[in-house]
Amino acid sequence: MAEDIYMLVQNKYMRLQRQAEQKCAEAIEAVYKQHPELKQITDETSSINSALIKASLKHLPEAELESLKEQLLSFKQKRDDYMQKNNIDKSIFTPQYVCNDCRDTGKLDNGMRCHCFNDYYSQYKFGDADMKILERENFSTFDLSIFPEKTASGVNQRAQMEHLKAALEDYCKKFPQVPKKNIIISGLTGTGKSFLTNCIAKALDERMFSVIRLSSYKMINDLFDLYISDSTEFNAELDRLCRVDVLIIDDLGTELMKENFTLNTIYYLLDKRLELDKAVIVSTNLSPKKLEDKYSDRIMSRLFNSNTANTILLSGTDVRLKRNNKTQSEN
Ligand SMILES: [Zn+2]
Repeated sequence: MAEDIYMLVQNKYMRLQRQAEQKCAEAIEAVYKQHPELKQITDETSSINSALIKASLKHLPEAELESLKEQLLSFKQKRDDYMQKNNIDKSIFTPQYVCNDCRDTGKLDNGMRCHCFNDYYSQYKFGDADMKILERENFSTFDLSIFPEKTASGVNQRAQMEHLKAALEDYCKKFPQVPKKNIIISGLTGTGKSFLTNCIAKALDERMFSVIRLSSYKMINDLFDLYISDSTEFNAELDRLCRVDVLIIDDLGTELMKENFTLNTIYYLLDKRLELDKAVIVSTNLSPKKLEDKYSDRIMSRLFNSNTANTILLSGTDVRLKRNNKTQSEN
């Protein structure tokens, strides 16, 4: 598991705990404002409690300790009675955690990782640690006016982009009931590939599908690090990448070739996801021809399987939508 994401998840827990504690403190303050008597009883209870702790440390005679204990009990009772009489919910004195299983620590009492840890981990992985991008780049901020209505070659790029946007929005709306789950977006830098994958990520995430979006470079690097350091974590991570509803791999072709590892891993992922009928969305700077040169036939057949994948070519300033068939625009 990548260290930086671990850090982000840890920070998230610290934030959650702080939030829960702050909310709790505010709620208590509000109650005390309304019930000064309760505050007084509570303060007295605490001071008896501290006195008792001090007394036990000093090994005072048993009788004195007993008397303090009795006082403490009676104040506690007084406090309980007051709250009951005034209908004050006892739970306001305990922070309300998002996850009660681990009290927002990420760890269970037996030292195991909490289920919520994996959920948070997915969330961060999903945004390549930058969820904020998705707030900026989504279908609702899609600005068609940046595309020229007429390029030098006479293409109405704006109309094409409008068409593509509608097709992808439709895909996201109907997912997973779409004729072809996979999408390959190929185009040079600046043609809007990552914007499009962000739009898809956000739209499907909003529909509560699990989405992991990461660059091919980072995916291979992280997996390789795990592969050489911790085979259990490696298998767990690979399994997660196989099972997430939607895997978005940005910039396929930028990953480092680590002997057989890179190609084998990409093949395994694509093949397994095809078998599980899970969506893969790929963006790449490489043309289909260049991809063919770089990857083995078995990878290409998984990637450009015309039964399962839509291919979108964005070339130069032109935006051309080329699909293996017309299903995407017609459904
Ligand atoms: Zn938890």
